[in-house]
Amino acid sequence: MPPIHLSKPYRQLQSLQKAPKKLTRSRKHMQRHRRPFFCTFHWQERSEVQRFGSKDDWRRHEEHRHYQSEFYKCPGGPHESCRGAWALKSDFEKHLDEHHKAIVTSWTLLDGGINEDTKKDFFQRHHNGTDYVEDNFWCGFCAKLIAIPTEMTGRRGKEIRVNHVADHFHKEQKDIRLWVKYSVCNLAETSKALEVARTNYEREINLLDNELEILDQQRQLPPIKDIFGPVEPFSASSLGSSPVAPDFWICCECQHLAQNRPNFVYVMNLGKESECTSNEHPAHSRCPRCSIARSQFSNVL
Ligand SMILES: [Zn+2]
Ligand SMILES: [Zn+2]
Ligand SMILES: [Zn+2]
Ligand SMILES: [Zn+2]
Ligand SMILES: [Zn+2]
Ligand SMILES: [Zn+2]
Repeated sequence: MPPIHLSKPYRQLQSLQKAPKKLTRSRKHMQRHRRPFFCTFHWQERSEVQRFGSKDDWRRHEEHRHYQSEFYKCPGGPHESCRGAWALKSDFEKHLDEHHKAIVTSWTLLDGGINEDTKKDFFQRHHNGTDYVEDNFWCGFCAKLIAIPTEMTGRRGKEIRVNHVADHFHKEQKDIRLWVKYSVCNLAETSKALEVARTNYEREINLLDNELEILDQQRQLPPIKDIFGPVEPFSASSLGSSPVAPDFWICCECQHLAQNRPNFVYVMNLGKESECTSNEHPAHSRCPRCSIARSQFSNVL
């Protein structure tokens, strides 16, 4: 039953109840500027920093631009190769035979036979499944494989992974440079690996200006075309409703900054945006010198 005449206090109460909605919207708006979500693949595979303002944009990017192949991860040990991960089960088995006799013994029976259940269970626990839908997923902030509950495999497994990683970005405000890569993490020394990542990150963000020049000479940024395929010259028509929307564009001013300041990371801006986004400087407007970068994965979409 709708009230016909609202008393003044009631109206005030109503407007108070509406207030939180407004707050949430502005928090979301600020979040877009801060860009707290980072592509884990860009970091894992190319040490590139790619950031996104919303969880949806981030998820869409990760799921459409990248694909996780399966791998096996050494449980950790004293050998240099124990830092590694292997795409092939047979290569992982070879590593175990060479360096982890005790593990192999655990499923070897007295008569030389094999306890298949024990062996299968071990391989499953040290496996990152294809596209995160199988058994475990790697989290570089936790520096370990996280198990997906058996009843959650499939698309829901993907969901678990997305929410887990997004919480690190969103709730803990983790920077991707704190992510430990599965390809170099010795699981016997997890805390050391996390510490190294933290030290490197802090060194990078606390660089003093006079150190920048020295680093500039040491570190060469890879040319953009190597990362994203050929860079095409910008044409104004691409801004309109072209059937082929540009995936990303790169701000010419940011590109210039990146060439002169080694710890400056430029971002790929989404095609629909007209200003570049970065935490480190005020936004630049997109101009005719800004270049369009199509992802090498565009054609498969
Ligand atoms: Zn704004
Ligand atoms: Zn990416
Ligand atoms: Zn090992
Ligand atoms: Zn984690
Ligand atoms: Zn810029
Ligand atoms: Zn420009």
